[in-house]
Parts: sequence; structure tokens; C-alpha cells
Amino acid sequence: MASHKNSGQKTICVHTGETPDKQFRGAISPIYMASSYEFMEVDVKRYPRYFNTPNQEFLSKKIAQLEHSEGAMIFSSGMAAISTTLLAFLGSGDHIVLQKDIYGGTRNLVEEQFDRYGIEYTFTSGLYVNDFECCIQPNTKLIYIETPSNPLLKIVDIAAIANLAKSHNILSVIDNTFATPIIQRPIDFGIDIVLHSATKYFGGHSDISAGALAAKQEHIDTVWNLGKNLGGNLSDFMVWMLERSMKTLSVRVKAQQKNAKKLAKKLQKNKYVDTVYYPGLKSHPNYELAKKQMNGFGAMLSFKFIDGIDSEQFLKALKLIKPSMSLAGIESTMLLPSRTSHALLSPEERADQGICDGLIRFSVGMENSDDLLIDITMHCTRRFNKVCRFRNV
Ligand code: PLP
Repeated sequence: MASHKNSGQKTICVHTGETPDKQFRGAISPIYMASSYEFMEVDVKRYPRYFNTPNQEFLSKKIAQLEHSEGAMIFSSGMAAISTTLLAFLGSGDHIVLQKDIYGGTRNLVEEQFDRYGIEYTFTSGLYVNDFECCIQPNTKLIYIETPSNPLLKIVDIAAIANLAKSHNILSVIDNTFATPIIQRPIDFGIDIVLHSATKYFGGHSDISAGALAAKQEHIDTVWNLGKNLGGNLSDFMVWMLERSMKTLSVRVKAQQKNAKKLAKKLQKNKYVDTVYYPGLKSHPNYELAKKQMNGFGAMLSFKFIDGIDSEQFLKALKLIKPSMSLAGIESTMLLPSRTSHALLSPEERADQGICDGLIRFSVGMENSDDLLIDITMHCTRRFNKVCRFRNV
């Protein structure tokens, strides 16, 4: 397989990690669906749950090359990647420091399960490096961040966290789902392990559930050791689908990001909108930091309306943008985090993170931005006027 080490990201997306078709020389990867492989005269004993079938092995190379890591692993979901990684490095009596604002499912994993394993945890009170430092204890083994964060697109200083972790001999782990390696490569800043919900931008078409990890081989070996016991591998057909999807990762993310920037600016000027959360806006408190560590600002944004406008009514009035769960498909979607990704948090926990009930998270797709804008403004303005008059706004 050609390594494409010095190639651009688009070339890596298209070509790295193609499973060779030596027999027929087809232009794309064949799918090896075998769950049983020769064991006698071979160097590697292959089995799906060992994360080493041909399709898994080759797609891992694409992910590793994009993330600038030594290796990668593919899982059946983002949570399979996250839970396997955390449990591989943490045991009874260990402590983890986690960013206050992380994906609700990750928080649930920690709060619902870690006590049973005797793993101690602390969520930071803020997102500055000092907020992490003051949580470190003698038994802290791992620092976990997610930037940009879900759903308020807060930005954490990746290099500062990586340095903090190194100075305390602690492992640093990041959820890079929102940015993708097209926009942000945390390993270049010194982060040890990068995790993904590949269900999102890696898949990109809202039809794949998958997860991924990128790290140096030593860490991959540790995660693999537990991963083969837990069995969170992805089926080879879905691995093949993911490889196909990732061929367009770079162009999709860049097209979606361009739309997001334009729409964030338009929303900011809309008289019904109170606040827009997008790191690419100069008004974002971490705009400079985002500019420093990201190559662009991503395609996710959130916003809240002025008082008196009902977000649910707004979502119902949309004609083009789908009010639906998840994110990062080529189609634009919106949701209410308070009723979906962060529904299991208590109202106090949501309020503490700044997530109000009416907050709308907008996953910007790659439709024509003007059409998206018309959907947001024209169709909804009629409805807004009714709602607004009704509520005396
Ligand atoms: N990380 C982030 C940032 C997410 O948004 C999600 C899911 O929405 C996950 C992890 C979990 O991924 P999955 O749903 O693929 O298990």
C-alpha cells in the first residue's frame, strides 16, 4: 500500500487505507467479510474482534495518517471507543479529570458506571488550564477534553492541556469528533490519544455507527488488550462503508464549514436571535485560541432566541433543515440538546454548563447556504411574527 505520507489531506482521504485487490485490481477496496482466517502458516492471526481483519487494518492507516498518529483502531460506536479507552487506562483507585462540558453520553458513562469500578473522577469547574490543574490528585492517571465542546462550541487550549498532563506524567485524551483531523490535529500539540464518534463526520451521511481511536502503538496495544475482551469492533461491511465515506471527508468538512461560517454571521444579525455560539465569530470568547489551534472553525454552531420565541415552534416550521438527532451529516439538522444529547443531565447541571432549554444546536450541511438561510428566515419569520405578537415580544 502506498503510504501517501507527504500527500495532502484530500489525497490521504481518497487513497490511504485502500485494501489492496491483488486478484482483480479493482479501483476500490474489496470487502473481506471472513470471520475465520487461516491460523497455521501465517504471521498474524486475524479475527474481527482482534481489530485486524484486512478492511479494519487498512482503514486504520487512513485514520492514523490523518491524525498524525502511529496507529488507529476502529470501533462499533464512538462510545465503544471512549469506554474501551477509559477502562483500559483506569482501574480501581485511579482518578480522572474531565472537562466540565463534554458530550452527555460520555458524562453518563462516568457518572453511571465509574463508581462500580472504583474509579474516582472530577469534572472541572471551568475550561482554563488552571481549572484542570487544581483537580489533579496524586492518583490522577488521565485528563479528558473535548474541543470544540458539544453543544456550546467552547474551546480548550489543547497544547496547554497536553503540557500540563506531561508535567504530571498523566495521559491526555481528546474527543476530536466536532473538529475532525481536517481542522484540528491534537497529536501535533502533544495529546496522547484522539477519540472520535465516527458516526459523525467520518461517516458523514447519517447511516453509519462507528468510533475510532488514534495514538502511538504503545497506547493502541493497551486499548487493544481490553478491546479484544469487550468486543466493540465494527463489522467489516461497515468498515468498508466508512472507508468509502472517508474518501470525501476533507471536501465535505470544508464545504460544511464554509456554510456554517456564513450562517453564523447571518444568524448573529437576525433580530430574533439572542446569542450565536460559533468559534469563528470574533465575538466568541475563544476566537483567537480557536484560530491558533484549528484550521478553520468547524461546521457546528448553536444559538438561542430572544425571550418569547419558542424553539420547538421554530423547529416545526422548518422545511429544509431536519429537526433530528445526531450531527455532521451532509444534510443540515437542528436539535434541542436539553431534549436529546444532554437530556440525562439534571436541569442544574445543564444550567451550570450554560445549556438553556431553548438552545438549538445546528449541524450545518452542504446544501446551498442561501437555501438554508431562506429556511431559517423566510419560513420561520412568518411563524415568528405570530409567536412574537402572541407573546408581546
Ligand atoms: N463524542 C461526541 C462529541 C458526540 O457528539 C457523540 C455522539 O453524539 C459521541 C462522542 C458518541 O458517539 P456514538 O453515538 O457514535 O457512540
